[in-house]
Amino acid sequence: MIYCKRCVYPINHPLNLIINNEGICSGCLVHEEKDNLNWHNREKQLLRLILPYKKSKRDIYNCVVPISGGKDSYFILDYIKNKLNLRPLVVTYNKHYNTLTGHRNLSNLKSKLGFSSLNLTVNPKKIKKITKVTLRKLGSIYWHCIAGQTVFPIQVACKFKIPLIIWGAHQGIDQVGMFSHTDEVEMTRKYRKEHDLMGFEAEDLLKISNLKESDLENFIYPSDESIEKVGVRGIYLNNYIRWDSLSQHSNMVQKYKYETLNQLRTFDCYNDVDCVHYSGLHDYIKFMKFGYSKIHDHCSREIRLKRMSREQALHLIKKYIYKKPKDINAFLSWLNITEEYFYKCINKFRDRNIWNFSNNKWILKDSVHLKNVYKLKHKSFETNLNVNTLDKKFKYLNKYELINRGWGEN
Ligand SMILES: [Zn+2]
Repeated sequence: MIYCKRCVYPINHPLNLIINNEGICSGCLVHEEKDNLNWHNREKQLLRLILPYKKSKRDIYNCVVPISGGKDSYFILDYIKNKLNLRPLVVTYNKHYNTLTGHRNLSNLKSKLGFSSLNLTVNPKKIKKITKVTLRKLGSIYWHCIAGQTVFPIQVACKFKIPLIIWGAHQGIDQVGMFSHTDEVEMTRKYRKEHDLMGFEAEDLLKISNLKESDLENFIYPSDESIEKVGVRGIYLNNYIRWDSLSQHSNMVQKYKYETLNQLRTFDCYNDVDCVHYSGLHDYIKFMKFGYSKIHDHCSREIRLKRMSREQALHLIKKYIYKKPKDINAFLSWLNITEEYFYKCINKFRDRNIWNFSNNKWILKDSVHLKNVYKLKHKSFETNLNVNTLDKKFKYLNKYELINRGWGEN
């Protein structure tokens, strides 16, 4: 396996990483734009872009903003309200794997900043049925979450005839440098299918399973015709403002008391605090499939922002990468499956360039922290971070915080 010499990403990154002759990856090269572009001018560009939407005679909402309660939600809405002076309709897809901290964050955000919102909770029976299929066929417990949160805002935009959707960071730009910031790429159905959904839209699941169209109706992308009729477009803020997730979160902790939460498999206690599984079981699946996980994402980000040395990163990867997900029982009991069956589903998707199977055990044979000799010269990076959740007893929940649904029958 080849690894970037500057950050810690492997070349098998599922979003397609390119490593040049000097051994530097496309993500690191595009990141350099963060230090070279004139961000003052780029922000002006954004203000020009939104002007026609602000002038629109619509009297209630002039944009749709998808948020979750974790991951930059506070920063995005604070910016949209106080800097762009827009009137957003806030939309949230209920991922069903909620934490109490995330639920409080979401509720406080709407109250403190004053927004109306729509929440979609898909029929819990359908979610279980779909997740059983995606676990078996795609090795994913998260398909419905990603499919839901990337389609519900577009359905709302079409239905309520609000043509502008504003997203936070474009992952393909921020992680692997798929595009330059100056390309100003916008949301597309193609990117959603190929990268967010691993090549499987709702319609594709119908072809490989016994799911019916009625099971998947909430996840169907609106037709080109209905999108064009309203003129729906989705823009990404990180093309116009210098994106720095950690600093943004720190500011939101100060400004609005955004709640942070310890994560099992990464040092970053700011992101993804809304989900029981995102940094736990879902992240462990990523490790089992590709040999890398969230800790690589967060370390690569911090190296590029020059707050972390590569040695510190390798030390952190070694510390977090093997941690077993303590949230697995919540998932097994919710889906009514055994641990043995779960691992049988995921093991099919392991990258054999990374993993060896011998003596009934999977052994990690190739990883960036195994390839490099390193000594920790600096103090631990984690001392800079602040965990402030009100749930002092949070211990990787055994079950989900229920929002708009009950625990239910199997
Ligand atoms: Zn790199």
